[in-house]
Amino acid sequence: MSNEIKFTSGYGKIKNWIGNKEVESKARNYQDIYGPYRGDILGQVPMGTLSDVDAAVAAAKEAFPGWKNTHIKQRVQVMFKLKTLMERDFNELCQLISTENGKTLVEAAGDVAKAIEVLEFGCAIPNKISGQAQEVSADIFCSNLKTPLGVVASIAPFNFPIMVPMWTLPIALTVGNTMVLKPSEQVPLSAIRLAKLFKEAGLPDGVLNVVHGGAEVVNGICDHPDIKAVSFVGSTKVAKLVYARATASGKRALALGGAKNHLIVMPDADVETAPKQIVDSAIGCAGQRCMAASVMIAVGDCSKIIEQMKAYADSVKLGESMGAIINKQSVERINQYITQAEQMGAKILVDGRGKTPITNGTKDGYWVGPTLIDKMKENIPALKEEIFGPVLAIIHVDTLEQAMKLENSNPYGNACSIFTTSGRYADYVIKNATAGMCGVNVGVPVPREPFAFGGWYESRFGAGDITGDAGISFWTQDKKITVKWIEPQSRNWMS
Ligand code: NAD
Repeated sequence: MSNEIKFTSGYGKIKNWIGNKEVESKARNYQDIYGPYRGDILGQVPMGTLSDVDAAVAAAKEAFPGWKNTHIKQRVQVMFKLKTLMERDFNELCQLISTENGKTLVEAAGDVAKAIEVLEFGCAIPNKISGQAQEVSADIFCSNLKTPLGVVASIAPFNFPIMVPMWTLPIALTVGNTMVLKPSEQVPLSAIRLAKLFKEAGLPDGVLNVVHGGAEVVNGICDHPDIKAVSFVGSTKVAKLVYARATASGKRALALGGAKNHLIVMPDADVETAPKQIVDSAIGCAGQRCMAASVMIAVGDCSKIIEQMKAYADSVKLGESMGAIINKQSVERINQYITQAEQMGAKILVDGRGKTPITNGTKDGYWVGPTLIDKMKENIPALKEEIFGPVLAIIHVDTLEQAMKLENSNPYGNACSIFTTSGRYADYVIKNATAGMCGVNVGVPVPREPFAFGGWYESRFGAGDITGDAGISFWTQDKKITVKWIEPQSRNWMS
């Protein structure tokens, strides 16, 4: 894939997407959308209002009976068509993601490819969704029918503009719901492009609606009496608020939050492959991934591995093999964590502060280079708090048990990986890590379809996972059916 980003701007005032067309928001305020590579203004996003939410919900409510009563084998045809359209426009989607989010084109390709993988899972749902059926007593049959919930909502973060919305859309829509999507106000362009592709794929009017904005729209979604379920992906602070508010108004909710993922590195880890994988986990997508490694626990002597990590991190070219940070405030937050760690006695092995790109971008963009901080101590905030930038904190312990204790003390529960050549060590970590997604010799242990994605504890509020079979369960409710066709005279105590 060519590494040349064709930056675009001049998007003007972005509109909502309601009833399969662009509709002007009732917003009182618009916010500038910035391109992270160059810090330029791409357009303006409306900070939507409750009346925008009402309009989207009304369209979704009107569309629900028709969509629900369209047979699933017809509904899924939209997903098949969408797959061919996303493949047709693959490069264009990547360009848009890079422009508004700051990913490299290769990372943007991962965003779209993973979205397509969930879409393929969505395409398989008609063959997976059959419920149980059993003759539970003589001539009495019980069965379960998976039915949609009605109007549902999906609230997304900035860091995967296509993939995260697509964690929910193919599943929620294929099973027969209609949807209000609230993308991040920082990356509204990809969501609208996606909605247009859904329309081109044949999705009927009102089945998918997009409302832009921030807290007012999110709160409106949580409170709306006609919305039956809400999924959220974003920071832990907001995940907690959304989960509490949506469930308080009787909705089903699943809110995925932030993370602090640990990589445990044993001295027997493969020196050839582990260093690059570890650094890539921390700096891929400029560290703005909920699955990024942000703490490395070095058990015993890992000096050779750390040496190689430093050499690799030093060689990374900003703007080429690593993209930008989402906004100026995030750059400041990340730099503060690095400076604080330095002031508290940690050693900055590779310093990303003040680095600017070689190609693809300007110094006016939002940049932090790869950063490795060694000799971390437990009281340094960068070891415990989510930084959400390309920063890997390295702490040293003597034993695997000490490493596990440290991992277990972290309140998040998204991911944990071990790098080792010993099955015994790997087995110990898989059994004892307090993380929903674990890896062995994998820097970013994202489960691939059909396996479900989801963390634990402060990384997830609500039960279940967001994709895979758990996604089908979240977006459906079981109708329990009991049937009897026998004559009244043959009744027994069960009849
Ligand atoms: P964020 O929480 O700031 O925003 C997420 C969504 O919530 C956006 O749509 C935003 O408009 C809305 N929002 C923001 N503040 C709000 C408020 N006060 N009330 C109601 N809604 C509000 O998250 P972000 O900065 O866009 O994304 C980064 C975060 O998302 C990181 O913490 C990252 O770990 C997390 N994340 C988690 C996962 C996961 O699967 N666990 C995946 C991706 C990102």
